[in-house]
Parts: sequence; C-alpha cells; structure tokens
Amino acid sequence: MAEEEKKPKKIVPKKYPMPEQDPKERVHNFNEVPIGQDAQTAIAEAQRCLQCKRGPNRKVCMDGCPVEIDIPRFIKQVQLGEFAEAIRIIRENQNLPAVCGRVCPYENQCEGFCIVGKKNEPVGIGRLERFLADWERREQKHGKVEVPPPTGKKVAVVGGGPAGLTVAGDLAKLGHKVTVFEALQYCGGVLIYGIPEFRLPKEIVRAEVDYLRRMGVEIHNDYVIGKLETVDELLKSYDAVFVGTGAGLPDWTNLKGENLNGIMSANEFLTRVNLMKAFKFPEYDTPIRVGDRVVTIGGGNVAMDCARTSLRLGCKESVILYRRSDAELPARREEIHHAKDEGVRFELLAAPLEFIGDAQGNVQQVKAIRMQLGEPDASGRRRPVKIPGSEFLIDAQTVLIAIGQSPNPLVPMTTPDLKTTKEGTIAVDENGRTSKMGVFAGGDIASGAATVILAMGDGKRAAKAMHKFITGDRTWPAPEVFEKLSCEM
Ligand code: FAD
Ligand code: SF4
Ligand code: SF4
Repeated sequence: MAEEEKKPKKIVPKKYPMPEQDPKERVHNFNEVPIGQDAQTAIAEAQRCLQCKRGPNRKVCMDGCPVEIDIPRFIKQVQLGEFAEAIRIIRENQNLPAVCGRVCPYENQCEGFCIVGKKNEPVGIGRLERFLADWERREQKHGKVEVPPPTGKKVAVVGGGPAGLTVAGDLAKLGHKVTVFEALQYCGGVLIYGIPEFRLPKEIVRAEVDYLRRMGVEIHNDYVIGKLETVDELLKSYDAVFVGTGAGLPDWTNLKGENLNGIMSANEFLTRVNLMKAFKFPEYDTPIRVGDRVVTIGGGNVAMDCARTSLRLGCKESVILYRRSDAELPARREEIHHAKDEGVRFELLAAPLEFIGDAQGNVQQVKAIRMQLGEPDASGRRRPVKIPGSEFLIDAQTVLIAIGQSPNPLVPMTTPDLKTTKEGTIAVDENGRTSKMGVFAGGDIASGAATVILAMGDGKRAAKAMHKFITGDRTWPAPEVFEKLSCEM
C-alpha cells in the first residue's frame, strides 16, 4: 500500500448542512421544513464515512438500525455516485426509506453508533437515506416491482401503519400474497394522520404505499377488523394474520375542566388537520378553530407537532407545558430546535392542575404549578415534584392534550384467546407470536407507543417468523409463555 494511503483519513468534523425554510416564512405554511440536500452534498457527506467493519467488540452504525440496513455498503455506493445501487441496497431491508430518512430518531439509532460520531458529528445517515429515496422517486420509472413467483400462501395484515406495511413488503418480497386491511381511507397510520405535512409530506407516504402496491400487495381501505370481520374469520381464509393496529387511543389528564370546549386530544387535533385538511376549511368540510393562545400539555414529538401546527393555523402564542426540564423532553432534539426557532414558548417544570372556563363552557385558562426534579423514577428520569404555593395561570383558548397514547382495544376485544398485558398491549414473544396460533402482532399495539423504526423492526422480525410458519414450521410457544407475559408487563 502506498505510504499516502496509510495516513488516517482527515474527517470533515461536521455534517454538511441541511437547507431549511426560514422560520419566519415557514410558520405561515405547511410545506416541508428541511428542503433536502443535492447530489454533490450527499456525495461529500458519504465521503465522511470510514467504511468501518463490525467486530465482536466493536459496534458500528448497523448495530443501531432495527431493520438492519447494510449502511456502509449503501454509503460506499453514494461515494461512487451510484445512487440507483445505493437505494437498491437500502430497499433490501427497508420498505419506507423516504419516511425513515425524515422521522427516524437516527441520533439514538444508527448515528448514535457511528464511529465518526465519537469525536465529531456522526455521518448523516438519515439524510443520505432521505436523499436516495427522494432521488429514486424523481428519477426512477414507476412500473411493476419484480417479486419472486407466487408461493400460493396468503397472509392478512390488520393495520396499514409502519409495522403492517413492513410485514406486507417483506412477505411480498418472498412471493407470498399479502392483503392489508386498513380502517382509514389511506394507509400509513400515524405517518398519515399524526405527523404533520411540514415534517412528512403525505405525497411521500403515498408514494411508499404505492411501491408496495406495485409489489402486488392488495390494500382494502375503510375496512375495520373487529367490525366488518374478525381475526378469527380472517384465519379461515389466510395462512397467517399480522395485527399492527397501533396505539391510537389518547390518554387524558382527568383533571377538573378537561371537558370544556376548546380542549382536545392531540390525536383529534392532528387528525383533523392532516387527514381531513381542516386548515383548508371551507374548501374541505372539517373545521378547526384555534384561539389566540394555544397551550399544549406534554413534551414528546406529538406535543411539538401540536404546538408547531397551532402556529401555522394562526395562533398568536403557542406554549408547551411540560413537567420536567429541557434535558428530559422526550421529543427528538431536531423537533425541539425547530419548535424553538419558530417561536414556540416552553413553560418547563410546570404541570397542569385544572382547566378554567367561562360561562359558555369555553376554556379560558390553565391553572398550573411549578415543579422541581426529585429522585429518578421507574423510567430512570428524575421524578417531577410539585413546589407548594407556586400555582400560576396561563391564558388559553385552546388546550391540546399530548401526554401519551394507549393501544387500540378493538382487535384484542373481538379476538377470544388473544392475551393482552396489563397496559392493554397484545402479549408477544420475541418473534411477534401471540397466544393464538397463526396470529402475530407488532408495533405500538405490542410495545405501547414507540417509534416508526421500532415498529418496523417488530414488523421485520414478525415477517421472518410468519414466513417460517406458513412454509411449514408450525412450532408455537406454550400457552404459559403468554400467561406469564400478560401478568408481568
Ligand atoms: P400506527 O402508525 O398507529 O398504525 C396503525 C394502523 O392500524 C392505523 O393506520 C390504524 O388506522 C389501523 N387500525 C387500527 N385499528 C384497526 C382495525 N381494527 N382494523 C384495521 N385497521 C386498524 N415516531 C418516530 O419515529 N418519529 C417521529 O417523529 C414520530 N412522531 C410522531 C408524531 C405523532 C403525532 C405521533 C402520534 C406519533 C409519532 N411517532 C414518531 C410514533 C410513531 O408514529 C409510531 O410509533 C408508529 O407509527 C407506530 O406504527 P404502528 O404501525 O405500530 O401503528
Ligand atoms: Fe438509521 Fe433509521 Fe435509516 Fe436504520 S432506518 S439506517 S436507524 S435512519
Ligand atoms: Fe460509516 Fe459511521 Fe458506519 Fe463507520 S459507523 S461505516 S463511519 S456510518
């Protein structure tokens, strides 16, 4: 090897920047905030990668990717400018690259394991994934996607969110016939009805779903399993069933005044805006009203989405009320940073006590109390403790409750013998097998509200197990396994 080649590579210390819409402009529109990088920037970013090898005691980027994308291999192709080959490698393992390139919490996943990230900023793996998926959508032809000849096996997928779509894609790639049953008029789950347009344009989700259709996946929309048909009925026509119905049931504070007009769950608010285009009322049928001041209770991605959407709907002040400090905010750092740039006000270490209304029953104020952090709780985060006598009032004409979601109960309620945990999630083993032979589950319905990529990781593991099951390996865990799971969790 030439002397020069042995020298350690000089790394550009920071990621190449992502161009963004100016905060002053973007608070008046629903267009996507990050604009995307060009080909030259993507190649330069890829050149920051050291092409590390995995070792028994050496974790690298791939160890942080729940769907096991071969990251160094696809980045190598970006370095060479071979974008078609790079996205082909990603698609070997990943059915929604344009989505994950945008909303995956990659800072804690792949990029959290990047070797470059030990001393510098990690390689921008998420941005490269987004660049390639966007490049593919623009440049590639949109014909039928090649899949192996049909195996004759049929699988039903209940719920067309990230978990269900991953199962659908992975099993279609193996030649199985997949039918998705989705309750809403579009597939995508939270990607369609929850995450706002300015973070994830719906056109992108539709293009990813269309890719699955082109693989031969059949999709039935407006089809609620548990109402139109049950899982048991599906089992008569399909070789296996996957349940990926998510965690769409909003949690409430149960505080006094929560039923006042103007108080709604984050789910209802975001669904009205995203799915029913309420921001285009009266052009679209669904109205939405935000007052001058909107208070969002909570500190996760859902809360950031509510606070930022409120600004775009024209409120004068959008406030986040969160009971812990900035360091504990569960939202992605990028979302917090975007919210702050757009002018969202953070009222930290404060919790609501009561909602106060006027004589007509409309909310007018939130009574809150200051908190301080005490000892760590079961989640490992320091427990917020009320400071006596520190009550204060915040004006609010709209209050959005974004403190969490629980599993959708309909499928467990209508499927006898499907064991659930104390939290209402479906009890599954490490391969997504449930207490009912032939029925698998994954994503938020099995884990509780989590992330897109964890739901997809669940889908991937379940798809592998379903393939084994429908091709002849009928081994199934003993009932006691699920008895134990349903008591423990
Ligand atoms: P879901 O996405 O909930 O999909 C379930 C699907 O099943 C839905 O389409 C539903 O209509 C359908 N369904 C339900 N019941 C039935 C039935 N009986 N019959 C037929 N169909 C049914 N995660 C991130 O990684 N990054 C983010 O930035 C992020 N932001 C978020 C913002 C918001 C506002 C929300 C709510 C969540 C966010 N998340 C984020 C979390 C992430 O979206 C979820 O963890 C993920 O979507 C879970 O996928 P899933 O497939 O399990 O469920
Ligand atoms: Fe990283 Fe998420 Fe892409 Fe995996 S899917 S490589 S974790 S951004
Ligand atoms: Fe490249 Fe980072 Fe993965 Fe190493 S760990 S191969 S530098 S992306």
